This record gives sequence, C-alpha cells and structure tokens, in this order.
Amino acid sequence: MFSCVGYAAESATAPLAPFSFDRRDPGPKDVQIDIIYCGVCHSDLHQARNEWHNTVFPCVPGHEIVGRVKAVGTEVSKFKVGDLAGVGCMVDSCRSCENCRDGLEQYCNNGFVGTYNGPDKTSGGMTFGGYSKAIVVDQDFVLRIPENLDLKGVAPLLCAGITTYSPLRHWKVTKGQKVGVVGLGGLGHMAVKIAHAMGAEVYLFTTSPGKAEDAKRLGAKDIILSKDAEAVAKHAESFDFIIDTVSADHDVNGYLNALKRDGTLCQVGAPTDPLKVAAFSVIWKRRQFAGSLIGGIAETQEMLDFCAAHNITSDVEMIKMADIETAYERMVKSDVKYRFVIDMETMPTAA
Ligand code: NAP
Ligand code: ZN
Ligand code: ZN
Repeated sequence: MFSCVGYAAESATAPLAPFSFDRRDPGPKDVQIDIIYCGVCHSDLHQARNEWHNTVFPCVPGHEIVGRVKAVGTEVSKFKVGDLAGVGCMVDSCRSCENCRDGLEQYCNNGFVGTYNGPDKTSGGMTFGGYSKAIVVDQDFVLRIPENLDLKGVAPLLCAGITTYSPLRHWKVTKGQKVGVVGLGGLGHMAVKIAHAMGAEVYLFTTSPGKAEDAKRLGAKDIILSKDAEAVAKHAESFDFIIDTVSADHDVNGYLNALKRDGTLCQVGAPTDPLKVAAFSVIWKRRQFAGSLIGGIAETQEMLDFCAAHNITSDVEMIKMADIETAYERMVKSDVKYRFVIDMETMPTAA
C-alpha cells in the first residue's frame, strides 16, 4: 500500500477538505496512474452532499480522470510506464453477466464498481475517486487517451462525453435529424458538440439566455428558452430525439410534446426527486421517455477516438483543488463554462 492525498467530504454538510488514505500497490493486472487533471461532474456534488441518499462517508469524488502511468503490474499489456491514461465512472464489474459480456458494464447485473463510493473488492471498504494524486485501476477499466487532444479538455470526456455519446449512438442520431439538448452545463455542452459532429441539427433548450452565443459557437443552430412556453410550443412535434441533462427538478412534458411521432426523450440528468410525466405526453404520437447511464468501456474508447477524429474536447475552466466548494456553488447556479477541471498540481502534499 502507499499513502495518497485527496479531498474528501466527511459528511453531507461538511465542505470538502484534505484527506489522507491508502491505495493498494498495483497487482498483476493493475495500472497505477499519477493524476494530472480531474473534471468536476454534477454527480460529484450530488454524491458529496448525499442528495441521492446512498453516500458512504468519507467520500472522495472524481470520475473524469486523466494522468500518466506511473507503474504497471506484471500482466499488464495495454499500458506502459509514461503512457497517458484515463479513468471514468467505473473501475470494475462482475465481467460475467450478460450485460458485462455485451460490453455494457454500466448495467452489470451484479452492480458495477463506481470509481468512488463503490464497494472496493480489494480493500473491502469504499472506492475513492479522482480528487486525489494517484489511482490504481485494473487495466480493463483504463482508457487510452488520444495524444492529439488538449489533456485538460479530455478529462470531462470520461463522464460528460460518454454519458451523452452513448444515448446519441444508441438512438442512432444521424445527419439531418433534429436533436434537442436540455441544459447547457458539462453534459449539455458535450451533447451539443457530439450531436453536431454526428450531423444533427441541434437546438439547445436553456434557462440561461446568456448562453445563446456559446451554444451557437458549440454547434447549436439556435436556442429555445425553456421557460418561454410559446417558444417551446413553436417546436411542437418536430424533434427526432432530445437529451435532457438537467440536474434539478423540472417539467419534462414540454420536451415530450416537442417530439415527433416515435421520438425519444432520453433523461441523463439525475435530479433527486421523481419527474412527473403526463400520460398524454407519451400516448400522443407514441413517444418514449427513456434514460441512459454513462457508457461501457469499449464504447468509452470509441467515444474518445470519435472525439480525437473530430477534434472535440470539453470547454473547461481550470480550478485549484482548494476552490472546489466555490466551483460547486457556481455549478448549483448553472454558472459553469462548461466544465470545471481540477489541476492536481494544486493538491496539498499532505492532509
Ligand atoms: P451541470 O454542469 O451543473 O449542468 C446542468 C445544467 O442543467 C445547468 O447548467 C443548467 O443549464 C440546467 N439546469 C440546472 N438547474 C436547472 C433547473 N432548476 N431547471 C432547469 N434547468 C436547470 O451538471 P452536469 O455535470 O452536466 O450533470 C447534469 C446531471 O446529469 C446531474 O444530475 C448529474 O448527476 C447527471 N449525470 C448523469 C449521468 C448518467 O449516467 N445518466 C452521468 C453524469 C451526470 P441551462 O443554464 O442551460 O439551463
Ligand atoms: Zn459524472
Ligand atoms: Zn456484470
């Protein structure tokens, strides 16, 4: 074991603070990574503040991890010391159920192991995530990072990128389709970029009129103010697919009504409380209200390669580790442009 410094929440109401813990030495199939950057996902905030009522404290969040390989186990073939490497939301799964065999580890029937707040098979405790100097992960759950992309902007691809890429692929978004993205935050801005790169005509539904210019720069044809019922109604029955990234309670019926026949509204945002779906929003025009969870490891690699080919990275605001609470407060106010990324050089050397 070796000692590692991170930032942890000790309770739902305590601000994140320096925290020392042990990481396992790399086993035969493990890759030890020195973390360079870690993105800040709204899920980190939900989890640190126990908004999903399942957090085990202390909790070290962070699942948008990029770094360099520091050491590899004797049986590791995928990586060598010095390589760039990435870790997303999962560090393990059962690998034998039908979903794992299909490359959909995120839907593992025995529960995947989250990068943080997951049951750590080695320590018997909980996993600790990327708000830390180093991480040790089985090579099967480590991603290869394209060398041609800006590393700071790559980190958020490991969650925000794959969470939006996977449903866009699954529902076969293609050239010429009309696609809506609800919310321009970390996930939303990746959805706009990726759907645009897939050839779709993208519209952003937003509560923030000030994000209009950015939305167009990122690839949206136009924005629709989601609180303006008339503006939303103008687009009734016209969308093939809409992806909803909103992190707080909101009304989804306007978006369902914006779908044409057989269209799908895919929920990826994860508010604490149930959303209300009017029966007629889905009965009418045989619409579907669906959801999607991150993406499998193979698809995450596919997404990274897609982003490398299309020169897509996240628009990031770099922060120091000590500024995480300020970043969380801004995130709650929808004031993110469009992903905070922690520079791990700013982590204190001791807790
Ligand atoms: P984020 O950066 O905070 O973005 C969320 C955006 O939603 C905001 O920027 C805002 O966009 C909009 N929004 C926020 N509050 C709103 C409200 N009350 N009403 C309407 N719109 C509101 O968050 P994120 O990191 O993208 O994550 C978004 C959600 O996805 C979180 O709940 C997170 O836990 C979840 N998530 C799910 C998965 C999955 O696998 N399904 C993976 C990662 C994250 P505008 O200013 O444009 O309105
Ligand atoms: Zn995330
Ligand atoms: Zn499984």
